[in-house]
Amino acid sequence: MAFFKKGNPLRSITTQKCPACQEGEFFVHPHGYRTSEVGTVLDKCPKCGQRYTIEPGFYFGAAYVSYALNVALMVSCAVAVYVLVPEPKALHYVFTILGFTFLLFPGIFRFSRIIWATMFIPFGGEKRQFNKD
Ligand SMILES: [Zn+2]
Repeated sequence: MAFFKKGNPLRSITTQKCPACQEGEFFVHPHGYRTSEVGTVLDKCPKCGQRYTIEPGFYFGAAYVSYALNVALMVSCAVAVYVLVPEPKALHYVFTILGFTFLLFPGIFRFSRIIWATMFIPFGGEKRQFNKD
């Protein structure tokens, strides 16, 4: 089920599908809690053939997206502790932030990759294939 119309970049991000056609799978496994292949991306889209690694080291840039998502998560946890816990101590903040960061690591890792790919692979556009076979 997708909440966004086809062509909207948020559709490929929320469904974790190919940014170019929004139909083919993007990751090897449908969920990220398989530790050996937490964020393994397919070589190319099984539907349209779009290569997902458009240049060597392409996904190093996803670390910037991951950083932003983790900062947003940590700030959200800190605000939640401040609002929900009466007279919060420093350890409340530390354990809440570390706990949620640890539990949500696979999701944030995968979202950072699909967001990064969606930023550089246009929907329905010309295929970007710098590293052809
Ligand atoms: Zn595709």
